[in-house]
Amino acid sequence: MIQDPVFQQALPVLKALEAAGYEAYFVGGAIRDALLGLPIHDVDIATSAYPQEVQDVFPKHFDVGLEHGTVMAWYEGETYEITTFRTESGYQDYRRPDKVEFVQSLEEDLLRRDFTMNALAMASDGQIIDYFNGQEAIKEGRIEAVGVAHERFHEDALRMMRAVRFASQLDFEIAEETSRALKTNAPLLEKIAIERILVEMNKLWQGKNWQKGLAQMLEADLWAYCPYLERQVLETMLKLLASSPFADSDMAWAFYLYLDLGAGADRQAYNQASHQLARAWKMSKREDQHIAGLAYALAVRQGLSVWDADSLYALGFDLAWQLEQTLAQEEAEGSLLSQRFSPANLAACQANWQALPIHSLKDLAVNGSDLIQAFHPAEGAQIGRWLGTLEAAVLAGQVTNDKASLLAWLKEEIATEEEHL
Ligand code: ATP
Ligand code: MG
Repeated sequence: MIQDPVFQQALPVLKALEAAGYEAYFVGGAIRDALLGLPIHDVDIATSAYPQEVQDVFPKHFDVGLEHGTVMAWYEGETYEITTFRTESGYQDYRRPDKVEFVQSLEEDLLRRDFTMNALAMASDGQIIDYFNGQEAIKEGRIEAVGVAHERFHEDALRMMRAVRFASQLDFEIAEETSRALKTNAPLLEKIAIERILVEMNKLWQGKNWQKGLAQMLEADLWAYCPYLERQVLETMLKLLASSPFADSDMAWAFYLYLDLGAGADRQAYNQASHQLARAWKMSKREDQHIAGLAYALAVRQGLSVWDADSLYALGFDLAWQLEQTLAQEEAEGSLLSQRFSPANLAACQANWQALPIHSLKDLAVNGSDLIQAFHPAEGAQIGRWLGTLEAAVLAGQVTNDKASLLAWLKEEIATEEEHL
């Protein structure tokens, strides 16, 4: 396992700490993922060296959480998070230890970690150190708290969200005692900053068995201590949607809103709901807009046989395309949801978009100043109205999108209007 290029690349970092007389190990998620044959994204290092000593070994570094014992070291163009062995105590607020104490033993450091599968270490010779049967848990697909689950969730309530998102990502079962402790401690989730819950929730949506993770949230009542969510909508998601991972967590949230509001709601209703969701979960403006767009696109698509020109123009290609791909996926998996929609048609979506004479107002061959020059409008607001008229005429195929034709067409239109006055 230590042969994995990611570990090989980081190995000199361990060796450098050892050469300076300290203990050092790879720890945490990287060992777990390597044992599972999953790609490793970041290797964390734990060491007996104090932060100041780590800094001495790696002159190129920056501080990320010195009081928690973490130093980010630069080594051959890569950064490595090196954390001093530590224990935690206190946790009066259910989220952060009151006191972090540096210790000299790896075992004590591993003891503070959340689940047995995350409490493994690997030495520079490739030997795996496993005090809590983490390897067995991984082999059996089990998420099990290190020590007494009830106490561990009481210390840090975010661990409960980590449990359900790992259930989704790894398709693992939560061990019995750990599962019971989830239920008992669920209300403590309210103490945790929503931003941190959102990180876990979005990982859950994108996990390989999000249905398992979400079912656990329902089973343990965790959902009730998250803002905005309603049990019935979550249950509908489980019932209607396929179990394949959401390519994008925004899509999961969009489904949530669509199943909550239904196909009858208008754009404004979707915008409002998305805004409330985004505010409750402290999502970014970009997420808010993307979720609103996708959710409304779902509502629109339900009434269509294929994406037609008008709907594509109104929504933009990206949202429609993303949605159509998801619908194709749902169909392939035979989900109940696909029965609500006419068959996915990616080809029509693309062809109808390409056939549009313009894709937005910006594509119009005239702009506001062209209209001012040609027609000297009495009031500025007139320009917007004219542009809108031209846009609609081009889309309806009444006039071709070149400057001369547009100006000639509009001139006639204005003349007719004046006759009517
Ligand atoms: P991921 O693949 O998402 O990075 P990970 O297990 O590596 O999963 P990190 O948040 O990177 O998760 O944390 C690294 C390690 O730190 C974990 O494997 C675990 O040992 C420990 N850890 C992280 N968060 C907690 C927590 N809330 N309580 C206890 N230990 C934790
Ligand atoms: Mg990690």
